[in-house]
Amino acid sequence: MLQYTVYADLNCPFCYALHEQLSQFGLLQQVDWRLVEHAPEIAIYNKTSESQAELASEVFVVRSRVPNIDVALPKQRSDSRFASLCVIQAAEQDLEKSIELRRLLYRALWVDGLDIADVSVIYDCLIEAGLPAEVTIEEAQEDILTSWQESWEHGNFNLRIPVICSADGRTSLGLPSPTDLKAFFKGEEISSQEISRESCPRALRQTIAIYCDHSIETIWPVIATLRNEYNILLPSSLGELKTLLHEDPPALLLLSTEQQWNEMFSLCRETVSNKEELPLPIAFINQEVDDRLELEAYNAGAADFLTLNRAPAVLQSRIQILMQMKHSQDQLARSARIDGLTQVNNRREFERSIETEWRRAQRSKRSLVLIMLDIDHFKAFNDHYGHLAGDGCLRTVAQTIKGTVQRAEDSVCRYGGEEFAILLPESDLKGAEQLAEKVRANIENLQIKHEKSATAPIVTVSLGIASYSPSDELDPNELIEQADQALYKAKHQGRNQVC
Ligand code: GH3
Ligand code: MG
Ligand code: MG
Repeated sequence: MLQYTVYADLNCPFCYALHEQLSQFGLLQQVDWRLVEHAPEIAIYNKTSESQAELASEVFVVRSRVPNIDVALPKQRSDSRFASLCVIQAAEQDLEKSIELRRLLYRALWVDGLDIADVSVIYDCLIEAGLPAEVTIEEAQEDILTSWQESWEHGNFNLRIPVICSADGRTSLGLPSPTDLKAFFKGEEISSQEISRESCPRALRQTIAIYCDHSIETIWPVIATLRNEYNILLPSSLGELKTLLHEDPPALLLLSTEQQWNEMFSLCRETVSNKEELPLPIAFINQEVDDRLELEAYNAGAADFLTLNRAPAVLQSRIQILMQMKHSQDQLARSARIDGLTQVNNRREFERSIETEWRRAQRSKRSLVLIMLDIDHFKAFNDHYGHLAGDGCLRTVAQTIKGTVQRAEDSVCRYGGEEFAILLPESDLKGAEQLAEKVRANIENLQIKHEKSATAPIVTVSLGIASYSPSDELDPNELIEQADQALYKAKHQGRNQVC
């Protein structure tokens, strides 16, 4: 008994991901999977750089949503029409085998990177699914495809795919998270379709951005060796690339140009000399050896100059070395920044950030808030429970602070001993007070026993807040001084409070 209808395209990675998940959960048999063409003009534009960029970012998002499925960037988004008709025809002969055919076609495109518009690829899938290799498409199958297409286009789905409709009238638009998907199949409405923070793909795969100002065809052999192991991003313009470098820098940038050498060299120079960001290795890809260009690339700060007349495996190895170097550099940079015991930023990083944030606040005429926090009667805690327990308590407190502070631009640092600093750019005093109170309450709620505290039977903290606004003439040291004074006041007034 089919209880669900899905509208999906073979050439959409979101639909593929849904198909894989339903297959993994054993739910495919309950689904009437209706193939549609979500981009019917695909054959005309699938070789443009915009289309490549779109495809790469879709694959990227799919990986972040559903990290446990195989998906890799294919060379292009295939025209799916003929493959869809084959699936429809197969279903008339053997439903089970047609489901298998559909699965094989999805995987041919989204795992193996094959072109499923190619008859020989379809042929292999038919054979593997146990179907006859001879396919004659008749009007009847065309009619089915057209009627599915119409139901989707007029179904009030905002032309989104995949769509899942349940027999009892619920609808899910787009690719749900695995949890939401299971819930939907248990009869629940899908409440949120947001990307969860935990499933961010960066933690799993490093990202390589490739900018190429000519047809991607020439450098495809290099991309093909990387597309399984790394997230590939293909910004389609120089502007898009710059935004990416600024907002979400990749682990490596590959540049391939025919006409814009000077622009590329200055971009390289700019990026490499930017001390605010972590170092980003840049490699050029050129058709052939050219000593003059190669030297100029190194002078501009490039890490490597790859030429397409070498074997793809050689290029792959050189890129892997760059990625390993980047990884160890990042690790080193991290350990220079992070306090080993508590895993929050260390004092040095605090000094660096307060200086930068203060300058930024001055420039952009925005405010900056500093909260200083100190554990109450911590000496007595150490004396009574021992240093190891003291260390454990410091770790827990630090992680609780970090867990309470949510905005990406806010930073938590260990200022010294049992003292922490929270730096909040663009925050007002009222918001900071609420946050400080939440931190205080969350630490109180941990209910860590502290028998020897003079003020409470549990571990508590005192907090002092100071704020900077551009009209004040405060420098960073004075801001710290004021937060310290507020903290002292909180201590003096009985501890376990915000001042
Ligand atoms: P107050 O409520 O006034 O802050 O009292 P306090 O006892 O917390 O303040 P005091 O500055 O006298 O003591 C701080 C103690 O923190 C001293 C030291 O034993 C402990 N401490 C500092 N760093 C560490 C550390 O890394 N590990 C452990 N276990 N204890 C530390
Ligand atoms: Mg102290
Ligand atoms: Mg203390």
